[in-house]
Amino acid sequence: MLPVARKMKITDIECHVLLVPDVRTDATYSAQDDIVAFVHTDEGITGIGESDVNPWIARACIEAPSTHSMGLGLKEMLIGENPLDTERLWQKMYVGSCMNGRRGAVINAIGAIDMALCDIRGKTANKPTWHLLGGTPHDAIQPYASLQPNGTNLEQYRESLVEWVLHARSIGFRAAKLEITLFGPYNHTGMNESDDKVTEVLAACRKAVGSEFTLMVDVQYAWDSADRALATVCDWAEFDVYFLETPLWVDDLDGYARMHDESGLRIAAGEWQTTRHEFADLMDRGKIDIAQPDVGRVGGLTEAMKVCDMAAERGRKIIPHCWKTGISISASAHLASVTPHCPYFESLPAELTDSKIGRNWFETTCS
Ligand SMILES: [Mg+2]
Repeated sequence: MLPVARKMKITDIECHVLLVPDVRTDATYSAQDDIVAFVHTDEGITGIGESDVNPWIARACIEAPSTHSMGLGLKEMLIGENPLDTERLWQKMYVGSCMNGRRGAVINAIGAIDMALCDIRGKTANKPTWHLLGGTPHDAIQPYASLQPNGTNLEQYRESLVEWVLHARSIGFRAAKLEITLFGPYNHTGMNESDDKVTEVLAACRKAVGSEFTLMVDVQYAWDSADRALATVCDWAEFDVYFLETPLWVDDLDGYARMHDESGLRIAAGEWQTTRHEFADLMDRGKIDIAQPDVGRVGGLTEAMKVCDMAAERGRKIIPHCWKTGISISASAHLASVTPHCPYFESLPAELTDSKIGRNWFETTCS
């Protein structure tokens, strides 16, 4: 971020918990809820941010009163501060809340606030936020469509995914990610299919969309060992998969390293990681090829930029994760704009999401 010159004060932080009325808690679908933070200032400029975490927990992280010097509330720490001083405020929140949680939900909540502070910086300077992040902008950035199909059995799921990837192509996308979550801890609507069905769904999508379209695959932590994952994906060369996302449980870093070494695929991960420190583990021990910081969840644009720098130093690519509304999609696009090693950013277009929140907020926040 560029240096701060102007004086301004934060006067209030307003938190909004959003939830779709027909929420399905058995769905692999975090776009059903949202925490949106409005940071108000004494100059009438308001910044908006959001994060991908249980919104009641995030709101508590922001609004909880302070109890001691290492257990401070985020909102209390920020009232009266200069919102343009983003780097210093990030550090203040991180240190002041460290006994509330140096990782996880507290960092997710810091991410929503940091996103709002960066928004204030852009609005104050009357420039797009990417302009203030530093770095050289791309001429163009490329979104990929993230596709979580419908269905409560394999046939419905496969047909829905085929239909959606064709739809993505028809509205101009050149790349899409297939969420093939048929079993494992994050399985969709209670399905429990066998491993070979993942390949079956992938094959149907590749056949439908042809060879000139980029496909990524996310199995959402489906396999419980690298041996089991490798047994399925070792024959995937014919499907030309751009990356395989989160094949193993998030803590199995040695398993991720094996996937990198033995699968023949680019391995992507990082959607749940918070702070640069967790990404250091993922890149250095887990050897992932593509780091996927979620701008809100990792700790905001300020922290996401640090992860981008770490990836560049290590020769890895960045493809930011995003499963929220146009607020986060915009933040991801700003990040992608100034990250040369970012070939795509994740997008949930209104036409290709069942989330009422996503549909309603995409147009208002991305236009
Ligand atoms: Mg994912």
